[in-house]
Amino acid sequence: MITNNKKARRNSGQRELIWQLVAAVNDHPTALQIYDRLRHDSPTASLGNVYRNLAILVEEGRLARKTLRDGIEHFDATTSDHCHFVCEQCCTVSDLDLPLHAEITAEARRKTRHDIKGHTIQFYGLCTRCSKENQRLKSPSTKKGRNQ
Ligand SMILES: [Zn+2]
Ligand SMILES: [Zn+2]
Repeated sequence: MITNNKKARRNSGQRELIWQLVAAVNDHPTALQIYDRLRHDSPTASLGNVYRNLAILVEEGRLARKTLRDGIEHFDATTSDHCHFVCEQCCTVSDLDLPLHAEITAEARRKTRHDIKGHTIQFYGLCTRCSKENQRLKSPSTKKGRNQ
């Protein structure tokens, strides 16, 4: 009994830590990224526990789970519907402050018999950092070995 209580307390402590990790940066980390970050503070953390705690946080409505274009599940502390931008090169995910159109949800509901609750839009392409980096690599003036 006592051991179980202790375990439960440690778990909920770790759960708070996980939530804080996701909310603090809001870069939509994957479970593996969360596990890596968590290990800095709690070296004894296990990946299984991270998965379990993430599932509970999603169930409690404190985190949203989103499978994005890269096919990997990301965790988001912003649980309301919103748009995302995913960079195809560096895979960073960021929020996009764009209005969502309620009429699309209503129309989708009308056209199907599904109990549709909302929608999200996902944009993809190159982030500013990647497109700058690509241009730098293409530009002849920065080519290495020019003087050799
Ligand atoms: Zn990028
Ligand atoms: Zn988001």
